[in-house]
Amino acid sequence: MSTAGREYRALCDSGGVDLWQGATHAPPSAADLRLLSAAERVVMRRRSRTDGLRYAGAHIAVRRVLARYPGVAPAGIRFGTAPCPWCADPRHGRPVVEAPRTGLEFNLSHAGPHWALAVTCAAACRTTERAKPPFCGAGPARRQS
Ligand SMILES: [Zn+2]
Repeated sequence: MSTAGREYRALCDSGGVDLWQGATHAPPSAADLRLLSAAERVVMRRRSRTDGLRYAGAHIAVRRVLARYPGVAPAGIRFGTAPCPWCADPRHGRPVVEAPRTGLEFNLSHAGPHWALAVTCAAACRTTERAKPPFCGAGPARRQS
């Protein structure tokens, strides 16, 4: 099993949470900025220069971290949206990894230049015998526009 597979298996077997943190103190490279989706680039440009670069740095880091688990390139991570837990509207639920289908759940927080990312394995991936990471299927997701 690859290192990525072992990390993924360990996370799912533990039922725990991996916590990652970092900070954005310098503008991301042009290559890293290309990792962002069109929607993320729009959000980045709507903010002040400093806040936009911090947003971009955190979202690039999220791609890099989440890509480790299934062992794919950061550019291979595509986000979608889960249905809202209160109204089931698929347009404003929490972000989820749509591809590859990983079964990972995550949450990102920001404070100034700092970011923190919590990553866990969906309950279904811990309890379903056929759901073997890194190919555990996540729930239905809707692609972000
Ligand atoms: Zn709602």
